Amino acid sequence: MHKVILWDIDHTLIETGGVGSQVFKDAFEQVTGRKIDRLADVTGRTEQVIFRETLALYDVEDPGDYFPKFVEVQAAGYRARADEMRQRGRVLPGAREALQAFAERPEITQTVLTGNPKPSAIAKLEIFDIAHYLDLEIGAYGTDDADRPNLVPIAQTRATTRTGHTYTRETTYIIGDTVSDVEAAQKGGAQIIAVASGRTTSEELRKAGASICLTGLDDDAAMVRTVL
Ligand SMILES: [Mg+2]
Repeated sequence: MHKVILWDIDHTLIETGGVGSQVFKDAFEQVTGRKIDRLADVTGRTEQVIFRETLALYDVEDPGDYFPKFVEVQAAGYRARADEMRQRGRVLPGAREALQAFAERPEITQTVLTGNPKPSAIAKLEIFDIAHYLDLEIGAYGTDDADRPNLVPIAQTRATTRTGHTYTRETTYIIGDTVSDVEAAQKGGAQIIAVASGRTTSEELRKAGASICLTGLDDDAAMVRTVL
């Protein structure tokens, strides 16, 4: 049975150690000319939504091309701060081993489902040297849709085009750390493996409907068993 795994990035695979919000603020200022000291709520949301709400927070009018410009500047910002990211941030415990364990399974295809814009997602994963485990061309990103559940069929269709296999709710797995990941699976058509490695507790994830909830990715053998 062929399966596709859709990894969330932030607080599931990696943490930026605060570099992410600094990159956002710098890119926002460079694109809009407005200096900011806080962002709209980011947890589990797509970047389009965070950007739009941050514009509203500061009463900044968008001439229409701010978001595509922001996407480019943000990715460049991550690459410029690669060393700082590696110092302040980290790959979460067990993430590399879990990626490796799935990569060894020919029946499993793995990519990302993330609110990050595609260029920033790739920059983050490359900076932490885990991009090579994933097929990033078939992922679904915050630049594809503002609404996270809509990213599931986008990734499934891309995975089918790549592998020739059809992926259903039963054969698609999201691994993520927020209630938004759980909802994306429920509404978008996937199984959820929730990981309480971010700010959301196991109780909150279970209450949102996650029947499988792990405290971390440390047990990669258990991860593989769960998916297989
Ligand atoms: Mg996350």
